[in-house]
Amino acid sequence: MSAQTITRTMSVLSEVSGFSTEEIAKVAERYPLAVSPFIVKRLQEGNYSLEALRQFLPDTRELMDIEGFVGDPTGEKELQPERSILRTYHNRLAIIVTLKCLVYCRFCFRKEKVGFPDSVMPESELDKAIDYIAAHPEINDILLSGGDPLSLSNQKLLSFLKKLRELKQLKAIRIDSRALSFAPDRLDGELLEFLEADGRYWYYAHMNHPDDVNHPDIIAATKRLLSAGIPIYNQCVFLAGVNDNVETMVELMETCYEHKIIPYNLYVLDRVKGGAHFDVPIDRVVEIYEAISHLAGPAQPLLVFVDEKSRKHRAVYHESLDLHQFLNLRMNYSNHQRQPSLV
Ligand code: SF4
Repeated sequence: MSAQTITRTMSVLSEVSGFSTEEIAKVAERYPLAVSPFIVKRLQEGNYSLEALRQFLPDTRELMDIEGFVGDPTGEKELQPERSILRTYHNRLAIIVTLKCLVYCRFCFRKEKVGFPDSVMPESELDKAIDYIAAHPEINDILLSGGDPLSLSNQKLLSFLKKLRELKQLKAIRIDSRALSFAPDRLDGELLEFLEADGRYWYYAHMNHPDDVNHPDIIAATKRLLSAGIPIYNQCVFLAGVNDNVETMVELMETCYEHKIIPYNLYVLDRVKGGAHFDVPIDRVVEIYEAISHLAGPAQPLLVFVDEKSRKHRAVYHESLDLHQFLNLRMNYSNHQRQPSLV
């Protein structure tokens, strides 16, 4: 964002939140700030709530050092054969297409990486990802991640996607992006035409509050994606002050389902440094997840946490599963390095 846009954004954020622009600026000096023009406009029109905005609202609690909350909570450092690749599984990997985003989420587990001056991923690094996949024929499914791949212009993004198109071993290409909620016009005709013609694309949305779905432009972009044959799955995170109550979470899942955005994963917060104020107590997570279990099957997401060895732990609700025990495992993993006896 230009200096002028940042100043205007900070003044809108200050007006809506009651935080001073000085407080916001102090936090933004440490962790980058970006709120998309679409959200700024919605705030000015009064149709985006403070609860939803907290996802991007710099808060001085980010500057506190809280025990157990660390810079790399999912242990990604160990999983990168190239700067642009994250490989956790045998047949799948993630490509870090860029480390820039359309908005900077204050709870992001890559908070120490995204939005800093070196956030551009050079073309040479992306070419290394293509070469790596070509040399590993067992990889048949990839996630385009970051940062937000749709923060790139069509010119840059499509030039990369054209190279991916030649990798016939890939059966699925998933785009992980917040554009649907925060820059729905980014899902434009040129991009969708390309994705539709290829036929292997899926879209992974990241909606955490009903306001992230409830807007005519978002619904229109959802329909464009679906008409182009691109399935939409949602990944949501439990966030204190945003969606840590039954009413909000049930409304989010039902609204996604109504618009054919499948509620897929519901994450318990990664314990990232600067994100402790978003952590939701386990009892509350259990209460909300049990309430969701009364929804129609396709509206029920899997409950997920990721430990510092980047192993994904997923559970679906059923009466005999002890959710407290499942979630306590996460605490044991995140205390692993400090209290080895717990493992
Ligand atoms: S868009 Fe994704 S990568 Fe960027 S800050 Fe938000 S969660 Fe992190």
